Amino acid sequence: MTAASEPAGSTATRPAVRDDLRDVEPYGAPQLDVPVLLNTNETPWSPPPAFHAALAAKIAEGLPLHRYPDRDAVALRTALADREGLAVDRVWAANGSNEVLSQLFATYGGAGRSVLLFQPGYSAHPLLATVTGTGVVTADLDDDLRLTPDVAAAAVAANRPELICVASPNNPTGIPVAPDAVRALHDASEGLVVLDEAYVELSDDPGQGRALLDSLDRLVVVRTFSKAWRMAGLRLGYLLAHDWVVADLLKVRLPYHLDTITQTAGLVALDLADEVTAHIAVLVDERQRLHEALSSLAPVTVWESAGNFLLFRVPDARGVFARLLEAGILVRDFSTKPRLEGCLRVSVGTPEENDRFLTALQECL
Ligand code: PMP
Repeated sequence: MTAASEPAGSTATRPAVRDDLRDVEPYGAPQLDVPVLLNTNETPWSPPPAFHAALAAKIAEGLPLHRYPDRDAVALRTALADREGLAVDRVWAANGSNEVLSQLFATYGGAGRSVLLFQPGYSAHPLLATVTGTGVVTADLDDDLRLTPDVAAAAVAANRPELICVASPNNPTGIPVAPDAVRALHDASEGLVVLDEAYVELSDDPGQGRALLDSLDRLVVVRTFSKAWRMAGLRLGYLLAHDWVVADLLKVRLPYHLDTITQTAGLVALDLADEVTAHIAVLVDERQRLHEALSSLAPVTVWESAGNFLLFRVPDARGVFARLLEAGILVRDFSTKPRLEGCLRVSVGTPEENDRFLTALQECL
């Protein structure tokens, strides 16, 4: 906030922020106006025209926007449940998977409880935990940045958390969590195991979490429309779980939390699923091409990724980040984060964007 926009009143008379929020950094991946945006793992292509046309037609038909939305999003949840072969009372939806996660932490975390997170991991997980008053305990992934069953079980035994949250594929590494590691987390604990599958549709095994739900009683699978469904601008996420989880979440959701246009957009996307997700094959090919190109650059180390992004290590990461930005290309700088010295993350863009990135990177090195 600039001095000119400071609210009136001396700091002495202002209410202090909650003690546990004093050191919190607001979430803030840079949003800069540059030609090549490869820093927030969006899909580089907008949804197909058929999606916009169908959504526009629904709105034009007279969506009842003067009424509150369906509080329980039953039509949308039914469509999601049908896709997964589950009953509707095992599916829940909210504004992006971030809100789903926040609702889970508010329901099962909170004062005196903690969530176990693994490092390196998705930066919003500790933020959402802290904001909901949930304590955060962390454990390190192994030397290859993988979660093995042994690491999983040891971390649970050492911390006895009420909640465990892991992303598969993980962000920022792109590495999937193998089913035996998820099972180890579950079997070593008595808490809720949250598997954040934000990028799962881009992996080799998109049904992995859903299959585990059949045998793991305390597993929750969280998904989003922001990545493979190309709808980051609409804010829609959902979870698959056991019915008691969905019943418990009703206690914390805000009244009418998911607006009518977003619910309608989700239904339209599911109706046009093949077209909306048709780009995935191209994206996966581009990920492979980027991986090969990065691997062939002598000073670069790159991790194998099952998401729509690649983590790579370079000498002088901050300098490389700045020189890429001068060339109009925004990537994400992780080089100051624990265990990610020298690391940058690039989202997979269009073939043209990826070419520009690779050319600029070669010139930087
Ligand atoms: N989980 C992971 C692992 C992510 O990387 C992201 C977005 N970067 C999210 C959840 C949140 O996605 P959204 O709220 O857009 O669904």
